[in-house]
Order: sequence, then C-alpha cells, then structure tokens
Amino acid sequence: MPTLSVFGAQWGDEGKGKIIDGLARDADVVVRCQGGANAGHTVVVGEERFVLHHLPSGILHPEKLNLIGNGVAVDPLILFEELDGLAARGIEVTPNTLRVSAAAHVIFEHHRRVDGLAERWRGSGRIGTTGRGIGPCYADKAARTGLRVGDLVDPARLEERLAAALAEKNALLEKVYGEAPVSAAEVLDRYAPVAQRLGPFAADTGAEVRRAYKDGKSILFEGAQGAMLDLDHGTYPFVTSSNTGIAAIGSGAGFPPNRLERVLGIAKAYCTRVGEGPFPSEDGGAQGDLLRKRGNEYGATTGRPRRCGWLDLVALRYALELNGATGWVMTNLDVLTGFPKVPVCTGYAYAASEGRDPGLFPGHLADLGAVRPIVEERPGWTEDLTAVRRFEDLPPAARDYVSWIEDQVGTPVELLSVGPDRDQVIPR
Ligand code: GDP
Repeated sequence: MPTLSVFGAQWGDEGKGKIIDGLARDADVVVRCQGGANAGHTVVVGEERFVLHHLPSGILHPEKLNLIGNGVAVDPLILFEELDGLAARGIEVTPNTLRVSAAAHVIFEHHRRVDGLAERWRGSGRIGTTGRGIGPCYADKAARTGLRVGDLVDPARLEERLAAALAEKNALLEKVYGEAPVSAAEVLDRYAPVAQRLGPFAADTGAEVRRAYKDGKSILFEGAQGAMLDLDHGTYPFVTSSNTGIAAIGSGAGFPPNRLERVLGIAKAYCTRVGEGPFPSEDGGAQGDLLRKRGNEYGATTGRPRRCGWLDLVALRYALELNGATGWVMTNLDVLTGFPKVPVCTGYAYAASEGRDPGLFPGHLADLGAVRPIVEERPGWTEDLTAVRRFEDLPPAARDYVSWIEDQVGTPVELLSVGPDRDQVIPR
C-alpha cells in the first residue's frame, strides 16, 4: 500500500474514523489535508470511545507519523485540548509522531465570532455551519490576510500580522455587525501558551510526505467531511469551506496527485446529512426516525440530530466517479436490521424530465432541490449482523443488498462495517 486515500462519499459522518483507524494499522504515515476541527471522527477501541476533531486518526497508533497538512485550518486551542485529552488517557503525542504544517492557516477567536455572526446574518439562508470559524479562516486565506502556523509560532511576526488582520476584522465587527472589537492584547495572551507549545510540532509537512513516498513508506491520506459537501463539487452553498475529495491531497498536503494509487470511498448503507440543503432520499417520517435511533445518528462534533434517509445511488455513483475510487467501504449495514423492506434511491425524477438522465447527479443545486427520488425497495432481514465477520455468514437478504448495490454502483465494495468497534468489519 504505497498510497491509500480515503474520502467520505456522502454528506460526511460515514464512519470514516473507524475505517481509517483500521487501515492506519498498515500505514507508516497518516495525513490530513483539509477541513478543520469539524471532522468529528469516532473511533471505538474496546471499551474506549475516542472522538477526534482535529488530529489524524493514526494518532491512536503510537508508532505512526501523523501529518496535519497545509490545507487544514488549524485551531491550536482545540488541537491542544485534544492532545491533553489523549495524554490524560495515556496516549502521549510528541513531535516524533505529529507534525503540523507551518503553512497551515490558523483559526482565531475572531474567526469563530465572524462565523456565528455571518450565519445569523444569513437568516433563513443559513448554511448550518459548525460555527468553529473554519469558513472565515479559509476566507482570510484566499484574501491573503490570514495567519499561518509559521506566523503563530514566531512571536514578533504574530504580533505584527495579528495587528494587521484585526484592523480589518474589528472594522467589520464594529461597523457591520455592531459588535465589540477583538483586543489584540487579549488574543496574544490567550494564544501565546499554545503558540509556544506548537513550535516544536511546526514543520514542512509537504517535504516530509514526499520524502516518505520516495523512501517507499506507505501513506494514508484521510479525508474529512464528504464528497457532497465539497466546496466546488458538492451541494453549494450548503457545503463545507474546503475541497473534500482526493483533489485536496495535491493542494492541501503538497503531494503530487498523479502518484495516488488506491482510493477508497466510505458510504453508509443508508444516508444521513447534518445541516441545511437538499437531500433527495431523506425520510422525514417514522422510518427516518427509526434509522436515527438505531444508527445513533447524532453529530459527533455538535450533537445535532442528523437528517436520515435511504441510500442514494445517484449521489454515491457521482462521488465515487468524481474521486476516481478504486473501491468503497459500506458502513452501518447492521443498522438496517429489522426493516422489512429497505428503500434505495435509484434515480432522480425531474418535473420537466425531457432529456434529463435520472441517473446523473445534477450540476446545479436548484435542480437537486426539485428532484423526486425514484425508489426501489429491497428485501430486508431480521438477523443481528454485529457478530458476523465473513460475507458468507450474512443473511441472504443482506448479502443480496450489498451485491445488488455493488452492481448498481459499478465500483467494488472492499469492506463492510457492521458495528462501531474496530474489529466489526467484514472483508469482501
Ligand atoms: P466520520 O466523521 O465519518 O468518522 O463518522 P462519525 O464517526 O461521526 O460517525 C460514525 C458513527 O457511527 C460513530 O458513532 C461510529 O462509532 C459509528 N459507526 C461506525 N461504523 C459503524 C457501523 O458499521 N455500524 C454502526 N452501528 N455504527 C458505526
């Protein structure tokens, strides 16, 4: 496995954390390339449940090198909160096992404040952001007013760059939002201790990952969020503020995309979505509630109940094709136990359907909001799947469900997941 890239093939929360954690066993280096502390990967090891918002999932394996690439929006306060939390549970992370790109942009308090205010400003057009300042941080990156990890860990540069950034941000806070300004002195006080701690972790992670590749190491690139939340290719504007697919590896990790080999998408056996925006296969009724209850579909970062619905083959095919997936992993198959029939969305029906391919994901959001899902019901099963470890031991209806979907999608399922624990997987 020289390079393996894993991405969410739905709207996020596909169970990437657990799968990536399992795959990380075979990797020497684990790299995050995009997003911020809004990832919320959950990994269950025995009795222990770890929720990682910021750190790469390889961090639970003491011998791996974990890189936070330049494309990640780094929140140093959350990063150290997470590191301290791990230390309290006996997992020590040092600069030997974690490096953070000096070119990664830093999230400050003012980003969080602007995030909340901008969302309020949008009113009914709100996006449903996690409010962690990630979008405003990326906006500053594009506007060339952001501060990077390399600035944060250099006290003189920090003071100078922060003063320049706050001059503009405070004008926005006071004159547009009518809010109190942010005091540079307070920010410096608050961030100085974490800046000092971050210093030894700051590195040129792009050079490190390219060197690891030359040295024949195996590298795992872990995606956060999901393909349908991609800033360019997702359901804009109800998307996250970064690219979530394998394209982010080139820009956000400094690794040449033409060297990527195995690419795995992760998708649940059904669908969920957090936040606003169209979701064609959503089930807003009792069955959807049952999916939420059985699948424990509440956000790992925000605790928000997730919107639930059935597997959307149009969206899944699109996500796998967009990212050149060589295979995919189906998670949460166990959650479907007990549904007499399992509906699957096989196509989109348009009001004016002339010339529209029902199997093609529409490029424009207005169209997606207007489609009606074409649904086919598959036979359900009643057996508990959580202890099954071999494909042959699955009940016939569950096997049929997987094989039928695989045929519909045209990309092989490499792994099935039947429970939150690391070991609850079935190779295909
Ligand atoms: P991520 O952001 O893609 O890593 O997804 P989350 O970790 O937020 O959501 C996945 C949730 O489902 C977590 O609570 C996991 O422990 C749990 N989970 C992962 N795989 C499975 C599975 O196959 N079955 C069940 N029932 N739960 C799973």
